[in-house]
Amino acid sequence: MGSTPAPPNHNQSVSERLFTRAQAVMPSGYTRHLAVAKPYPIYADHAEGCWITDVEGNRKIDWINNFSALIHGHNKREIIDVLSAQAARLMSAVLPTEWEVDLAEILCARIPSIERVRFMNSGTEANQIAVKAARAYTGKPKIAKMEGGYHGQFDLLEASFQSTPENWGDPRRPSATAYQAGHPQGLLDLVTILPLNDIEATREILRAEADQLAAVILDPQRLQLGMVQPDLAFLEMLREETERLGILLIFDEVWSLRAGHGGYQGKIGITPDLTTMGKIVGGGIPVGACGGKQEYMSVFEIEAGDPKIKHSGTFTANPMAMACGTTSLRLLTPNAFDDLAAKGDRLRDGLAQIQHDLDLDGVVLGEGSISVLVMTRKPLRNYRDLAFAAATDLAARLPIIQKLLAEERLLTMRGGFVGSTPMTNDDIDFTIAGARRAFTRFKA
Ligand code: PLP
Repeated sequence: MGSTPAPPNHNQSVSERLFTRAQAVMPSGYTRHLAVAKPYPIYADHAEGCWITDVEGNRKIDWINNFSALIHGHNKREIIDVLSAQAARLMSAVLPTEWEVDLAEILCARIPSIERVRFMNSGTEANQIAVKAARAYTGKPKIAKMEGGYHGQFDLLEASFQSTPENWGDPRRPSATAYQAGHPQGLLDLVTILPLNDIEATREILRAEADQLAAVILDPQRLQLGMVQPDLAFLEMLREETERLGILLIFDEVWSLRAGHGGYQGKIGITPDLTTMGKIVGGGIPVGACGGKQEYMSVFEIEAGDPKIKHSGTFTANPMAMACGTTSLRLLTPNAFDDLAAKGDRLRDGLAQIQHDLDLDGVVLGEGSISVLVMTRKPLRNYRDLAFAAATDLAARLPIIQKLLAEERLLTMRGGFVGSTPMTNDDIDFTIAGARRAFTRFKA
């Protein structure tokens, strides 16, 4: 609206026409490049349960669920009801609402590391705040992260994301490389890169830099869509060493919170000092959250009018996100997680059978509601294994597989399948049957 609309071109699909308009007003024509198909994105129209319908009227099972945020799929009745009521009542205000208290109580009750919590608007922002908190608490400047790790669009934590053999340096002492233009050396100097799953090398680095390091941050489960998993022994070493050295351990559970009722930390029994969250905590509305023990979270406390960290924001803890998140998490009972995991197992069994029958060069990974058919048999133990695989087999295979699955009415990303509570066994079986046809065509 506003400017002159593009003239209709009846030879183009609706998506193609929308994309022509979009390119005139946005660089590349879109904002979320990861989900974009070539030569133009397919535009969404509406969705219900686990099915999403595009503007051409094609229905697909949504196995992306907005990068895992929609654990209840689309348009869950209880969520629509609470959002409609809240929109009519109060959309946002400078005053806090009871929903914020409700959501905070749920997180404190469920997530082992969380005694106090604060809200933001995205996972990225949660990580920014956690880094600030760790620096304020320890008085130290540097942050350590895993090589290739993703923690959102915060440039400090983008160091080494997508580094390459040309710049990544010694495998036991990876370099803090710039991810993209506008990533200054001054920022990179504040980041230490750790080699995931290399216990000895990581321990050495932590000990050598302990007096500079405020925190170590990593997502404890499924780095890069389930393809690379931190070993339990590696996580245990991190917990022990950071505690001994006075470095805070931050678990980025923005994605992995969907692993269980107590997040991934609740499953593995390793408790970090701070936890960052997002995605499912908002039930579909943008949100971020950062929580931890009272001792660390006290940096946000207003003592004598002077908190160490003044954290606020126009939309922080807005009632729509708080109401939606509270409703969504209340529906996520331990039984709901068991059901998600059972459906995940059913899907993984089906995919593994396809992999076996077709002798696909791949392996089925994942747990709970996350499954991924990784199209390589090479073991992926760290970012470099993944990058080498991606540079060869994976990169070439993934877009083809994504397209073949889409033709079977399965909306997926990078071979990954992210489940949601409305999915039935019939939806899983529909998916397995479609995947079998897609992979058969892929092999042909
Ligand atoms: N951390 C992890 C592990 C993520 O997977 C993501 C998003 O995918 C983020 C942080 C960033 O969250 P957001 O996209 O809400 O900023």
